[in-house]
Amino acid sequence: MTFEEIKEKVRQYAEKYAARKGYILNPNLEELDLVYEGLAKRREQYGAQYCPCRIVLGDKQEDRKIICPCVYHEEEIERDGMCHCALFFKPE
Ligand code: SF4
Repeated sequence: MTFEEIKEKVRQYAEKYAARKGYILNPNLEELDLVYEGLAKRREQYGAQYCPCRIVLGDKQEDRKIICPCVYHEEEIERDGMCHCALFFKPE
């Protein structure tokens, strides 16, 4: 799979997930694209879409928590209006 194809998969995942949860995606398309790039790079490197804004420790059990959507995002979106990477936002 080419990098562009991986990125497309990431994009589809994010759109579907946001729709299902009632979130919106980062309205700044440049920032959004950077998060897609980051997730796609991780998917390419590790075979799992680890959060691009967090450190992969190399401990499968721990690292599972940061596979997007990470275990932290709901609380972050509720509290800060967006997840740590600014991928998912709370609708106004
Ligand atoms: S912070 Fe956002 S982009 Fe990063 S893993 Fe969590 S939900 Fe995904």
